[in-house]
Amino acid sequence: MSKQDVAAAGLDVEQMKSWRHAIHRQPELGFEEHATSALVAEQLRAWGYAVHSGIAVTGVVGVLQWGTGNGRRIGLRADMDAIPLQEMTGLPWASTVPGKMHGCGHDGHTAMLLGAARVLAERARDGRLPGSGTLVLIFQPAEELGGGGGARRMLEEGLFERFPCDAIFGMHNFPGIAVGEVHVRPGAFMASSDKVSIRFIGRGGHGGVPHLAVDPTLPAAATVLGLQSIVGRNVNPNRAAVVSVGRIAAGSAYNVIAERAEIELSVRALDPAVRDVLEQRIRELVEHQARAYGCRSEIEYVRGYPVLLNAAAPTAFAVGVARKLFGEDNVVADAEPLTGSEDFAFLLEQVPGCYVLVGNGDNGHADGRWAGGCMVHNPHYDFNDACLAVGARLWIGLVEQYFQN
Ligand SMILES: [Zn+2]
Ligand SMILES: [Zn+2]
Repeated sequence: MSKQDVAAAGLDVEQMKSWRHAIHRQPELGFEEHATSALVAEQLRAWGYAVHSGIAVTGVVGVLQWGTGNGRRIGLRADMDAIPLQEMTGLPWASTVPGKMHGCGHDGHTAMLLGAARVLAERARDGRLPGSGTLVLIFQPAEELGGGGGARRMLEEGLFERFPCDAIFGMHNFPGIAVGEVHVRPGAFMASSDKVSIRFIGRGGHGGVPHLAVDPTLPAAATVLGLQSIVGRNVNPNRAAVVSVGRIAAGSAYNVIAERAEIELSVRALDPAVRDVLEQRIRELVEHQARAYGCRSEIEYVRGYPVLLNAAAPTAFAVGVARKLFGEDNVVADAEPLTGSEDFAFLLEQVPGCYVLVGNGDNGHADGRWAGGCMVHNPHYDFNDACLAVGARLWIGLVEQYFQN
C-alpha cells in the first residue's frame, strides 16, 4: 500500500503505532482491560463520540451520528484483551507484565479501530460522510476467555437493544497471510468450540485382585478410541468435525485400580447441525461404554463459542469494498474455513454481518527466526504495524460505502 493511499485516507499511522505499543506494553487479561478501555473511551470522547463505558465490565461502545441520524446503523467491533503467556520477542514495546502478553494481536485490533474512528469522526463533522447514519463502535473485553466471552456478556447487558445495528463487521489479523491481503468466505468461517469433561466412576481396589474392583480405565480407553468413530461414521464426510482428547487422567500408583478416570475433550464443528450430532453421539457413547464395563459416568458438556456464520450480503459487500481498496488480487473471497473459534460468532447470531481476516505477514518483523510463519498465541508472535493502515482503511471503506448504497 502506498504512502499516498494512507495519506489520502487521512490516517495517522504513527499515532496508531504509539497506541498499539502502549497497549502492548501493558497487556490486560479478559474483563481486566481497565487501562485499555480508559484509553479508548478518552480518545472517542475527544473526537465527539457518545461514549458508553462499563458494558461487560470493561467494554466500551462509541456512537457517532450524522445527517438526520435516521439512516442505517453499522457496527464495527474490535477486541481488547491479552492472553496469559510470557512474551519472548524482546521487542522494544514488549510486555512489561510477567506472564501476560498481547499474543493474539488485539492491541493492533484496538489501534486499527481507533485510527479509523478518528478519521470517521472528522469526516462526519466536515459533512464528508454520505447520507445519514449511525456508527456503533464496539470495543469488547475478554474474547480469549472461552465459554465466558466478552461478546456474549455484552449481549446479555443489552448491546443491540441499546445500540441497534443493521449490519456488523469484525476483523482479525492472521499470520501467514501477506500484509495487504484480506481473506474471507460467506457461511461458516470459524468453528464452534465446546468443552466436554467426562468422568467414569468404578470401584477402586488392589491391582492384583481386579475381580473385586470395577476398573474405570477400561471405558475411558474404549471411549478415547470410540470418539473418532463418531467423526468417521456419524458425521457427513463432506462436513468438518474435530474431537480432540486434551487430557486423560486416572490412578495414582501402578498397583492400584483407580476409582475414577477422567477425559477432557475439545469438540469443534463448522455446521450447527454437526455440532448437535457430536453432542448427542458423545453423550450416548460415554453412557454406554460406562455401562458396558460396569461403571457409572458423568458428563459435563459446555457449549462455548458457536459456529461463526458470515451472512451472504454483508460478506459480498465487504469483498467489494476490500477489492476496491486493495485490488482484486489481494482479496480471497472463498478462504478455507478455520477450526479456531471466535466470540464474534455470538454477535453474528443476532445481527447479520461479516468477519474478515487481514494478513499479518510472516512475523519476520518481530523475530527473524520465525520468518515463514508464527501463529498467534506463540510467545514470539507480534502484531505487524504494517497492517494498521490496512485494517483502518478497510474500516473506513466499509462505513463510507455502506452509506453510499
Ligand atoms: Zn487468540
Ligand atoms: Zn484473537
